[in-house]
Amino acid sequence: MALEKYREKRDFTKTPEPTGGSQRRKQESGPLFFCVQKHLASHLHYDLRLEHDGVLLSWAVPKGPSLDPTVKRLAMHVEDHPLEYGEFEGVIPEGYGAGVVMLWDRGTWLPEVPDVGEALRKGDLKFTLDGYKLKGSWVLVRTRGYGGRGGSRAEGGDGRSWLLIKHRDEWSGALDITEFAPRSVKSDEDLEGILAADTPALWESGRPGGRIGVALAPVIERAATRRKAANAQAAKSKAAPRQTAKKPPAKGRVKHR
Ligand code: MN
Repeated sequence: MALEKYREKRDFTKTPEPTGGSQRRKQESGPLFFCVQKHLASHLHYDLRLEHDGVLLSWAVPKGPSLDPTVKRLAMHVEDHPLEYGEFEGVIPEGYGAGVVMLWDRGTWLPEVPDVGEALRKGDLKFTLDGYKLKGSWVLVRTRGYGGRGGSRAEGGDGRSWLLIKHRDEWSGALDITEFAPRSVKSDEDLEGILAADTPALWESGRPGGRIGVALAPVIERAATRRKAANAQAAKSKAAPRQTAKKPPAKGRVKHR
């Protein structure tokens, strides 16, 4: 099983992410699952995941996918994830990947090569996506990349740097898909909505520090404001449905400072 790295990086007593323990059986035929998770951690990025051999092959794409065939997006090959991860959306309160995860797109994918394992070794994987947002033909191609740290192991790189490129077809174009369709395909929420739905106490007691804290601060702020407003609204309609606005709105239970 290829999930050792995935499990090594995580403390499952502290993260709501799936352990991958209840592995679904590998499908012998039928469509393969894919998803893209929008992940606000120390930096916002998009995690592309393709089902293969019972796990999700994963690439972190800092700028997200582009529908423009002339745009090459850096995609860092990261550790395999369990299949269950494909439905995950929520808040990782601390540790590896701490931040907010949104299920940004999902659907099925089809390799355009006879042997995915061989394509991975060669560093050239062509495939078709059929998601809500991403469709048509794409390629992931390994690159020497970035300060000599990319490239295949044989070339002396660490083999992690790939490029994600849209092929020209009826689904390619100039539309900025991450701007045009920014919300979750699971909850229809944005990042602060997902955060606001999570246990707010967690965010009061243990706000992440450092770079992650800085990246998350505005989202936490907006989530707390939204939560406050929702609580006030709930308290108002519960307390006195027939009274008009004489009383000041009830204070939300959530303090965000
Ligand atoms: Mn990520």
